[in-house]
Amino acid sequence: MRYVSVYILAFASLLALAMHDPLFAEVEVGAAVKPDACIGDDTKLGVSRVVEIDTEGGVDVGGEKAGAKQFLNDGEVVLTFDDGPMKSVTGPILKALADQCTKATFFMVGQMALANPEMVKEVAAAGHTVGSHTWSHKNIHVISLAKAQQEIEAAISTVSKAKGTPVAPLFRFPYLNSTKQTEAYLRSRNIGAVWIDVDSKDYRTRSAKVVEQNILSQLAKQKKGIILMHDIHAWTAAQLPDLLKELHDRGYKVVQFVPKGQIETIASYDAAAEKALAAKAAAKAANPMVSRSIVWPMSSIPGTDLAAVSPTGTRLRAGSRYKRVATKPTIVDGVADDSAPVKIPVSKYKKTAKPKDETSSWGLFN
Ligand SMILES: [Zn+2]
Repeated sequence: MRYVSVYILAFASLLALAMHDPLFAEVEVGAAVKPDACIGDDTKLGVSRVVEIDTEGGVDVGGEKAGAKQFLNDGEVVLTFDDGPMKSVTGPILKALADQCTKATFFMVGQMALANPEMVKEVAAAGHTVGSHTWSHKNIHVISLAKAQQEIEAAISTVSKAKGTPVAPLFRFPYLNSTKQTEAYLRSRNIGAVWIDVDSKDYRTRSAKVVEQNILSQLAKQKKGIILMHDIHAWTAAQLPDLLKELHDRGYKVVQFVPKGQIETIASYDAAAEKALAAKAAAKAANPMVSRSIVWPMSSIPGTDLAAVSPTGTRLRAGSRYKRVATKPTIVDGVADDSAPVKIPVSKYKKTAKPKDETSSWGLFN
């Protein structure tokens, strides 16, 4: 009898999905999307259309990059969040998005996914698109191609393993800094680079109102665009309900980007990611208060020097530069995991307490 009930429920779920708004039929492969109760509610922002991006052979999306594909019409926006997930910020952001029945893309940092695997699953389960944003937020422009490849692949595998299904083949360059070589590498991996049109500059303020005004004023001039925000700032989460309401009231439409194809992860990185996530889970089970003293096992991968990376105590620098720069970024507060106190070896803590430049804080772990 129990089994019959399960089948009936499963059938009912399929039926509900089939009857669901066709716009949502193109969601990311593997994402557990539930039909939204508020579909068709004009008082909500919603999603006006889903753009399926073919990343075969690589593609640049949005921004001012020459040759980039532009998918948006006037009045259309894409919501993107970089650098997370971080429980205390990503959680409220998910709620604000759900309250407006709308969808976004999250470009996650590998270390953050390792520290917050539950949030990765939550974001994906809510039907948002999950892309990647390097393992440790390195400025690709100032590191070797080999290290850049490690940064890219470690993030792809870690976020995928945390998520439970492969991450979207969509990537955002930290600080929006790329090199011709890394762009070519992404093309060889059939990964699309998503650029930005509207910068919230939420890394330069602590004011929710300023973040919202930054976005709305740029949109008023440009009429459309891919919006950059960061889900590591409390003020970004704080302004989101009002921003979404304003977007609705001003007649903007939200477009969701989803990938056409699926990424092919690399087995050696997958194995390392699984090992790291298992170590994280075991440490958490043993003692939740010290669960974040994880050693990233990338040393087992030939040619990889991401050994002994700790996802703990690392300060995030979320400054994103639209133009290629290698100067000191804005340093903002933020830790890899905000759910419990962090136990860090004193030597590392001293080194990471005051990151001085682009490479000092993330780079210490490599
Ligand atoms: Zn970033």
